[in-house]
Amino acid sequence: MKIAVIGAGIIGVTTAWELARDGHEVTVFERRIAAAEEGSFANTGILAPGYTAPWAAPGMPFKILRHLLLRHAPVHFSLPLSGSDLAWMWKSWRACASDTYLRNRQSLLGLARYSHTRLHELAAELEFEFDRSQGLLVLLRSEHDHALLRHGLQLLRDQGHAHRELKPEEARAIEPALNPDTAFHSALHLPDDEAGNCRQFALLLKNAALARGVQFAFGATVERLTPGQGMDVQLAGEPQPRRFDAAVLCAGADSARLLRPLGMKIPLAAVYGYSVSATVREPLNAPRSAVMDERYKVAIARLGNRVRVGGGAELGGRPERQRKDALQTLYKVLHDWFPGAAVLSSGVQTWKGARPMLPDGPPLLGASGIPGLWLNCGHGDSGWALGCGSARALADLVAGRPPELALDGFGIERLQT
Ligand SMILES: Cc1cc2nc3c(=O)[nH]c(=O)nc-3n(C[C@H](O)[C@H](O)[C@H](O)COP(=O)(O)OP(=O)(O)OC[C@H]3O[C@@H](n4cnc5c(N)ncnc54)[C@H](O)[C@@H]3O)c2cc1C
Repeated sequence: MKIAVIGAGIIGVTTAWELARDGHEVTVFERRIAAAEEGSFANTGILAPGYTAPWAAPGMPFKILRHLLLRHAPVHFSLPLSGSDLAWMWKSWRACASDTYLRNRQSLLGLARYSHTRLHELAAELEFEFDRSQGLLVLLRSEHDHALLRHGLQLLRDQGHAHRELKPEEARAIEPALNPDTAFHSALHLPDDEAGNCRQFALLLKNAALARGVQFAFGATVERLTPGQGMDVQLAGEPQPRRFDAAVLCAGADSARLLRPLGMKIPLAAVYGYSVSATVREPLNAPRSAVMDERYKVAIARLGNRVRVGGGAELGGRPERQRKDALQTLYKVLHDWFPGAAVLSSGVQTWKGARPMLPDGPPLLGASGIPGLWLNCGHGDSGWALGCGSARALADLVAGRPPELALDGFGIERLQT
């Protein structure tokens, strides 16, 4: 089939690769001048199948209210919120019900594990070399942080996912550079989880896809999708639409905009986050792998000769306006755990990016209900961790094959109630 993929973030690139592998003729349309320039540009890089969970969880609304009173709050609302932001919050609040959360968590865990395996297969087969580090250490500052993790621990046990609860001195043996002056209650170590550079992977896979015959049209903004005999793709500045047999929507946080004229209203919000990347100053003071500060929801990852710190969740606001206090929280957490790890006086990259978030957690993966239009979008805070598996499963659906992974819980029907 002749297939159009809309968007060249991590989701669009992995999707194009898997479709091309199945023998389709694929064209990727991307409005930016390169792949992975938006949400996939400088994310924290955590690939943690054991730690992938919906934000909409029991107790979350109360937790957010409490956080708002903290100086280094992980969540921020840029006022005034729009009507659609408020509607999204309401839907997210409803998805916090225990049974909904458990169902969504189970779906996400399954997809994250499948995706991790697929990523490793691709990296080995294509001999990709990209910045990565093995293991994730979750740091729990207090008994309270530990108590909040209890339920997640049970799930890890149920799933048989490798993990170990550690005392501070055991955690310090895994990450010897942890600041001796920062006390903490305990830690959770996930040895099979890891961190990797999402953008590097996306660019490597884009090149591999090019070599397989995928066409990439950069600087090409899709204005409209029109179903007919297949799917017509109208690009900005072109007089006529281009005809395809099918299209896959991978437009990240902008996916909802392209669906609206087709009569489909999906509750997709751009939840912004920040990252700071800096060169390692002294390897002895730097993290060996990835560390997650559970209280501030900030992760620190070692990516080659750089340290990347990422976190923050901002609803509302604008992509180009970086909030100083959000960045200060990242610096504070880095300093708390790894003082002197990175060169912060020059060459620091600060980034604000959008997480394409659906209110309940799992992405939209599968048929749209409109013949010829497929959805692979809304991966929220885990697009890198979920990307390779989502793409393989979507390509199986397009081919009319049952995917290896059951896709219950990823359909659009759940959002149309
Ligand atoms: C601070 C932060 C930290 C994060 N940390 C992690 C992490 O540790 N692990 C993890 O798994 N995930 C993480 N994420 C989430 C992850 O980055 C996203 O889920 C992922 O990048 C989404 O990929 P995407 O391809 O759907 O979107 P994008 O990368 O945004 O790609 C969508 C593409 O579509 C293009 N596009 C949109 N509309 C059009 C149009 N009309 N025409 C043509 N092109 C169009 C855009 O230009 C863009 O390139 C983080 C996110 C943030 C913000």
